[in-house]
Amino acid sequence: MRLSDLPTPSLILDRARLKRNVARMVARAKELGVTLRPHMKTAKSAEVARLVHGGGTGPITVSTLAEAEYFAKSGFTDMLYAVAIVPAKLDRAAAIMRAAPGLKLLTDDLEAARAIAARGAALGVRFNAVIEVETGGGRAGVDPTSPELAAIADALAPAGMLAGVMAHAGHSYGCEGVTEIEEVAEAERAGVVAAAEFLRARGHSFEHVSVGSTPTALHARHLDGVTEMRPGNFVFFDLFQHGLGMCAAEDIAVGVLTSVIGHHRGRNHILLDAGALALSKDTGANRRIENVGYGLVRAPSEASPREDVAVLDVHQEHGILSARRGLDAIDPLPFADWPVGSRTLVLPNHVCMTSAMYTQYHVIDGSDEIVAVWDRTGGW
Ligand code: PLP
Repeated sequence: MRLSDLPTPSLILDRARLKRNVARMVARAKELGVTLRPHMKTAKSAEVARLVHGGGTGPITVSTLAEAEYFAKSGFTDMLYAVAIVPAKLDRAAAIMRAAPGLKLLTDDLEAARAIAARGAALGVRFNAVIEVETGGGRAGVDPTSPELAAIADALAPAGMLAGVMAHAGHSYGCEGVTEIEEVAEAERAGVVAAAEFLRARGHSFEHVSVGSTPTALHARHLDGVTEMRPGNFVFFDLFQHGLGMCAAEDIAVGVLTSVIGHHRGRNHILLDAGALALSKDTGANRRIENVGYGLVRAPSEASPREDVAVLDVHQEHGILSARRGLDAIDPLPFADWPVGSRTLVLPNHVCMTSAMYTQYHVIDGSDEIVAVWDRTGGW
């Protein structure tokens, strides 16, 4: 099967680029002396997780219980579910632990910690809980040396359920330049290590001191005191990461294969069958790359995206490809380059969102032949 045989839109994964991206992060983790616990929120694919772990299973991070169930079925036993748990989800987590005893839950709340300990005792399950600390991201977590942190640890430890501390520097995406990312990475590291030392000084012991995010993983100066890192986006990268300087456009491993469905010569634009549902409505990359719209396009046979056009508007099932520097900047567009029925790839602005629209990856590796079809999970 070839790209030309696929229905459009379809999600295409370039295995050579994926392997290159994975090798880069594996080398980073080695250099930093920490375990790589990739966040599978981006790929949601057992094949990708196995590729990160050299063909086998290994520690991963997940963002939903549905992911945890899917990866448990695929043989992954060591998972951090890195979104705060609520009591109503504990029985489902306990069921997952039958196949994946290394499932770890996340909390930054004293009542939730008490519920974890109580429900675990009632079910006869020793939950593993990681406490989230706040290191500047402003999303979740308690302060690293606060009475709240101590109280949560005290609620979990007697039941043997305190597994570690973690932080996520999501604000690394707002940084200007590498120096700022290095500083955010250092704040993330120093904060979570301070939390670990604070709890150890109070007599607690635990295994995991965890940091996350692709930009901080790529630019931390060192990770002394940390045991693991959880980047996720790096497996595929996207236009936002490219705009932030984390990757080259040629590293972006995922694209949406789309068909040209029309020419609107009066408006000087080309219509594609990849709209808001196929690409997502995430326009975050425009903060980093001017007029990138909903994505840049490249021919499957080309390594780099075209600089002159972008998908500048979307409707549910329509994408509108036009000149990036204004409708008249290229007048008329080279319609002959994109006959109706021809195909192109759209590079995603935010690959986690775009990929979420699909149930499989069609995998290519150096040609237009589909060498594999990999499933991916979804839902909650
Ligand atoms: N850890 C947590 C808790 C996250 O929420 C995320 C992403 O949202 C990550 C790790 C991975 O970060 P990135 O998407 O930058 O790779």
